[in-house]
Amino acid sequence: MNETSKKTIIDVKGLNAFYGDRQILSDISLEIIENEIMVIMGHSGSGKSTLLRHVLGLNRPVSGSIKILDQEITTLDHYALYELRKKIGVAFQNGAMFSSMNLLENVELPLHEHTRLDKNTIRIMARLKLELMDLGDNESLMPSELSGGMLKRAGLARAVVMDPNILFFDEPSAGLDPVTSAELDDLILQLRDAMNMTIVVVTHELESAFKIADRITVIDKGKQIMTGNKEEIKDSDDPRIINMLQRRAANETINADDYLNKLTRN
Ligand code: ATP
Ligand code: MG
Repeated sequence: MNETSKKTIIDVKGLNAFYGDRQILSDISLEIIENEIMVIMGHSGSGKSTLLRHVLGLNRPVSGSIKILDQEITTLDHYALYELRKKIGVAFQNGAMFSSMNLLENVELPLHEHTRLDKNTIRIMARLKLELMDLGDNESLMPSELSGGMLKRAGLARAVVMDPNILFFDEPSAGLDPVTSAELDDLILQLRDAMNMTIVVVTHELESAFKIADRITVIDKGKQIMTGNKEEIKDSDDPRIINMLQRRAANETINADDYLNKLTRN
C-alpha cells in the first residue's frame, strides 16, 4: 500500500479532553488514512472510548482540532454533524441494541432515521447486511436471545447498514471466546476490502490487533505513547509497550520472542 498517495480521512491534532476538571486525554495527534485499519490499544481506563466519543463529535474537546473528511467537527453545527454522521458507522462497546425490537428492526433503524427509502427497500438493505454478517437466519430473534458473538455481529450489521465511509468499532472481541473473536476479525478485514471502508478499532486483544491492524496507536493514561505499523510497535523500546506485548506472552507461558514473531507473521 502506497500510503503517501492516500487521503487523510481523520485528522486529530493536539486533542485535550476532560470530564469535569479531570483531564482524560492529553495532546493526542492522529492521522487515519483512507482504507486503513487503525487499531487503538491501551489499558482499561486509558481513554480509548473517550477518544472515539470525541472523534464522533459526541463530546467536544477542550482544545485541539478534529477533522473528518476535511470537515472540522469541533465547530460544526448540529445539522452538519448529523449529515456527517451518515457517513460514519459505529459499533459500540456494549452492542447497544434496543431490547424491544428484533434483530431485523434494530438493523433497519438507521435507514428509517436517516433516509426516506420505503419500507420494503429498507427491509432488503437490512437483510443484505444481516446475510453479510451470517445472521440471515436469525432476523426475528430479540437481542436477549442472541449470543455474545451474534450481538457483536448484529451491532456491526447496524453500523454498516448505511454503507458508511468510516467504521468505528469499540472492543469487537471483548468477552468472546477465541474462535468467535477470530471470526469477527475476519469480518472486519472483509468489510474493509469489500466495502472499501476506513476502520478504527479499539481493542485490548493483542492477537486481534496484530491480525487486523495496518497501524496501531497505543494510549496509556490518556497519553499517546506511539503510533506505528506492527513491526514498529513490536520493535519499540518503550518499556510500557514492551510490557504490553510481553504480559500476554508471560500468561501463555511461551517464549516471548516466539510469541511476538507469531503476532507479526502475515
Ligand atoms: P476500557 O478499556 O475499560 O473500555 P477506555 O480506555 O475506553 O477503557 P474510557 O472509557 O475512555 O477508557 O475512560 C477513560 C477515563 O475516563 C476513565 O478513568 C473513566 O473513569 C473516565 N470516564 C469515562 N466516561 C466518563 C464520564 N462519562 N464521566 C466521567 N468520567 C468518565
Ligand atoms: Mg472503552
